[in-house]
Amino acid sequence: MKCGECTECCNAFPVVELNKEAWEDCQYADNGCKIYNLRPNSCRKCECAYMQNPKVSQELRPDNCGVIFERSNKVMLGTIVGPMSPIVKGQIKSFKNEGFRVLFQRKNK
Ligand code: SF4
Ligand code: SF4
Repeated sequence: MKCGECTECCNAFPVVELNKEAWEDCQYADNGCKIYNLRPNSCRKCECAYMQNPKVSQELRPDNCGVIFERSNKVMLGTIVGPMSPIVKGQIKSFKNEGFRVLFQRKNK
């Protein structure tokens, strides 16, 4: 899959190379990454499950569904980035059926 216009991880996660903290906008995010081919290593480390599944519906792209899912061994960590779409419920069920423990984190207010 492609990120398209999504830049949710660009806001939610820190990028040390750019002195960017988590939950701060990135200066290069503008309907996608303006420096995609030159993006820092931190940006390349996002294990976005949407990007790793060629058959996934675009409705599950994080900017559409409100959650960035990342695999880590048998845990699927969901970072809540916006209002959660009802489609996420089915996705959680399917991750659990695959044997994943599903955990969530959100921005501290
Ligand atoms: S959250 Fe996923 S789809 Fe969105 S920009 Fe990041 S890697 Fe791409
Ligand atoms: S450099 Fe590009 S990929 Fe990295 S956080 Fe900024 S917009 Fe996102």
